[in-house]
Formats: sequence, structure tokens, C-alpha cells
Amino acid sequence: MRGVRMLGQSQVTVEDFPDPRLGEGEVLIRIQASALCGSELHGYRGDTGQEFNGGHEAMGVVAEALHTRYLKPGDRVGIHAVWGCGQCRWCASGRYTFCDQRRGTPGTHAELVSAPEHVLLKLEEDISDEVGVLLSGDGLGVPYHVSTRLNTRGGDVVCVIGAGPIGLGNVLIQSFLGAEVVVIDLNDYRLGLARDLGAKHTVNSQTDDAVEAVRQITSGSLADKCIECVGRPETLKLALRLVGKAGTVMAVGEQGDVPLSISEDLIRRDITLMGSWFFHYCEFGAMVNLYRRGLRVDKLVTHRFPLEEAPLAFSEFSAGRTGKVVLQPCA
Ligand SMILES: [Zn+2]
Ligand SMILES: [Zn+2]
Repeated sequence: MRGVRMLGQSQVTVEDFPDPRLGEGEVLIRIQASALCGSELHGYRGDTGQEFNGGHEAMGVVAEALHTRYLKPGDRVGIHAVWGCGQCRWCASGRYTFCDQRRGTPGTHAELVSAPEHVLLKLEEDISDEVGVLLSGDGLGVPYHVSTRLNTRGGDVVCVIGAGPIGLGNVLIQSFLGAEVVVIDLNDYRLGLARDLGAKHTVNSQTDDAVEAVRQITSGSLADKCIECVGRPETLKLALRLVGKAGTVMAVGEQGDVPLSISEDLIRRDITLMGSWFFHYCEFGAMVNLYRRGLRVDKLVTHRFPLEEAPLAFSEFSAGRTGKVVLQPCA
């Protein structure tokens, strides 16, 4: 089969790899759509290459199924990126992300992937390939999980810092839930995408002061909630300044230590600082419901490439000239 290999230093190639071997209860999937994720850019831009690739948001068609319980060849499935053991208390409640034995998908930027049946989500006919990738993967899963943690109400002013794919997904869901969304980024193209996805206000923080802009939008009271999707100390500190008294800051961008003034940043204004990691297998059904009630998940995808054009797909994505990008290995 053909598959993407990450070479590091912003280079990828498409090469021949052996077809995956199928174990008991496993399913061979012919990949129709595999999305690029911002989390892959660390590896893409890093110095060292990989044996294969880190693709993990994908859907496809069952090509072969050995002693499976409910899937058969021809079924369309989304692949959940985190595989739980299937037996512990977290897996029993569909929260694979909390499983101590969890592992990840073995690289979906390829023609074929094998996976255990219990990590596959059957896609009904009204869910297109691209929408299926987003509903069964972290493209929508992360923003959806954030929305359940933030408990957004209509009328809330919600700031989103960072208009990459995860930030844009948050814009889409928060707007759909009735929030007045303000997006802060440095990239005008992506701020334009944010407006298309429902953002009421956008601020280019290179030319405008984000705190001042939010102060004006809210007549001085500042935001109710802020979702930090960049993962830098300065943007987390900015998030804490964008929310008003009793506000909530949600940390989504991964990062290490950040110096905080506990009194200034948290205590004296009753600020809630929360984290949210990934999403759970059991949240798929709720995301499908949102889609069927009008959430325009399809608008998150701006570019599609055949597998052989993966080098171009990665360079455009890395340069910030796209929204969500989908590779189509067997479409
Ligand atoms: Zn991802
Ligand atoms: Zn488990």
C-alpha cells in the first residue's frame, strides 16, 4: 500500500509500505479520507523523521473483517483515534481517553489501516466522508468536548484565541450554541474563515490590542469565557486578561509551565481556569445529533488532496493557508 512518511524538517514523502496484517476481531479499512491535524505539525517541522506518519483522524470502508460482531465488508466507518483496552471502568462508559492502557491509531495517511472493531464508529448514509472524519475524530471532538465542559449559554461572550483548526471548530460550536464569539489571531485568512463559521467579531492582535477590542465589544465588562487554542504562555496570560469578573478560561493548547499571579489572575476576580483534553468515544452520538440539527461541520474543511500530493497538503497547512485539510487515499 501507499502511505505518507514524515521526514522531519518540513518534508514528507509518499512511499510503498507493507499492507497491515489483520488480528482476531480486527477490521481492515480502506481509507477514503484522512485529515491533517495541528498536532502533527510538531513532528512535521521537527528535526527527526518518523518511520511512518501520525495521521489519526480518518474514515473509510471495511475491506475485510475477521470474526467481527457487527461490522461487515462495505460498511463505512470512522476510526476513533484513541484505543482503550475495552474492559476498564473508563472504557465501559465509552471514555477511552481516560484508559490507562490507551494507545493511538497507527497512522491513517495511507491506503489501508487495521483497527479493532470496538474503536470503529459506523457512519450512516447522511454523513459524508469528510463530515464522518470530523464527527468521529478530534477535528470536531475536541471543540465538542470543550463545549460540554464550558456549559455555554446563549448570550455568553466567548473569546477564542487561535484560529487554527481547533480554534475554528470552537468558533463553529460556540456560535451554534448561541454565544457571541470573538476570535483573536494573527492570520487574516483564518480570521475570515472564523467569520464564515459564525464569529461575530475578529481581532488581528498584530495590529489591534485584543484586550481593548474586547473591552469595547462588551462595553467594558470583558468576556464571560475564553478558549485558549494556541498553547503559549503569553496567550494563556492574554486569555486571563480577556475574561471579566467570575469569568472562565479554558486551556486547550498544550504547553508546559506558565507563570501565574494567583492573586491577580485568579483569586481577586473569582476566575475559573480549566483544562480540556481530547474527547471521548461516547460523544460521537451527540456530535451526530448536532450535525443533524444544522451544525455546519462540512464548512471546516477547505482543502482536499490525493494521497500522492501529501507534500503540498502539509506545506499549505503548515503555512496557515488552509482550514482543515483532508487527504483522500482511496476516494
Ligand atoms: Zn488530531
Ligand atoms: Zn480501558
